[in-house]
Amino acid sequence: MTFYSFSSDEGKKKKFATGVKVVLRPPSFEDIHCSDCGIHWRKTVNSEEGKAQFVLTNNHYADFLYSSDGLLISERAIEVFDLEGISGYSKTEIIVSSPKETPAEFQRLLRLAGENVKKMPENPPQYYMVMINGLISLHQEQNLKFIHCNKCGLVRAVSPGSSFINTDHNLIIDASSWRCEDIMNTNYPARNVCTERFIEIYHKHELTGLIFSDLTSR
Ligand SMILES: [Zn+2]
Repeated sequence: MTFYSFSSDEGKKKKFATGVKVVLRPPSFEDIHCSDCGIHWRKTVNSEEGKAQFVLTNNHYADFLYSSDGLLISERAIEVFDLEGISGYSKTEIIVSSPKETPAEFQRLLRLAGENVKKMPENPPQYYMVMINGLISLHQEQNLKFIHCNKCGLVRAVSPGSSFINTDHNLIIDASSWRCEDIMNTNYPARNVCTERFIEIYHKHELTGLIFSDLTSR
């Protein structure tokens, strides 16, 4: 069994649109300055209610779009997933709107962030937020060190001799933990994982917006 990791493709000649979430107040965080492990990190505390609203940065629509809140998926890709019986995910409805339909204050924030609001589509297509709930484990021989702080509860995985996971660290999937799902997450460190069947279906239906790379499994 071969597994692959996947992430959003930013596009080659022309960059794909990305989703920008309409927020007026920055999310609230609890700043944790831990005296035990010495790490400063932020815990998100508020949970928003209602459908999340997004604007898209341009009209180059892929079936999967990057957003700061996670992958967005097109209606056509959802139809393909239903048709082919793709398992391991659920979808959440979101509102995709023109920047004109957002509060003036948000449009001002977009401009401040350097976005070209005029280029943003007025009639963007519907997208959904993908929640990946399939699960697969990393192999215990993956050579990662887990550091657990008893005081603040932070768990960090690091490469040996490093204080983070090196970008070339080869993560190994535990093939025996596969529950026959097509798309999955590894728990920690979190990676999006898919099967060969998923990639075949992706190409067969000419879906766009993802890039895949090989994972070692054992
Ligand atoms: Zn700590």
